[in-house]
Amino acid sequence: MLADNVEKVLITEEEIIERCTQLGKQISKDYADTYPVIIGLLKGSVPFMAELIKHIDIDCEIEFMAVSSYSGVESMGDVKIVKDLDRSIKGMHVLIVEDIVDTGKTLEKVKELLYSKGAASVKVVSLLDKPDRRIVDIEAEYVGFTIPNEFVIGFGLDFDQKYRNLPYVGVLKEECYK
Ligand code: 5GP
Repeated sequence: MLADNVEKVLITEEEIIERCTQLGKQISKDYADTYPVIIGLLKGSVPFMAELIKHIDIDCEIEFMAVSSYSGVESMGDVKIVKDLDRSIKGMHVLIVEDIVDTGKTLEKVKELLYSKGAASVKVVSLLDKPDRRIVDIEAEYVGFTIPNEFVIGFGLDFDQKYRNLPYVGVLKEECYK
């Protein structure tokens, strides 16, 4: 079973749903007078995006983009756009949905790109934040949970493309990646 490879559960499904309820309320309030486009970064943001948007009760659109930055457990340092947006975001208020802010390099590049496409504003909601690892001076405006410097998997987060389907955030047993 998938769960046999999990050392410990850091954040349960119930805790994530509860936090998404709070974040959704706050986002609905903050974007009440706008018509935001909510952009999920594939593939890690998918479960978080799906849960979060259920709690956003204002008119909005959803879009997806794919960027690549990681291979295995370490950053490759480079960020590439793998799948671009399908629509223009000129003049629109953008909310990026991310799984985790680690070094901050991905967000820096994506924000830069979205502003260059004419976005009126670009903010970020991230399920997780790992501030100890930050290299770039960037913060998500909305954070689900701040976590210590551990490599986590589940609720969208992968190790070599696996474990995204775990319904919670956990730490992998060392023997699985050593
Ligand atoms: P950053 O550019 O902020 O260093 O990296 C962001 C991306 O790295 C995330 O979207 C995620 O895909 C990956 N990443 C960073 N930390 C972790 C982690 O602890 N676990 C997993 N599975 N991916 C991570």
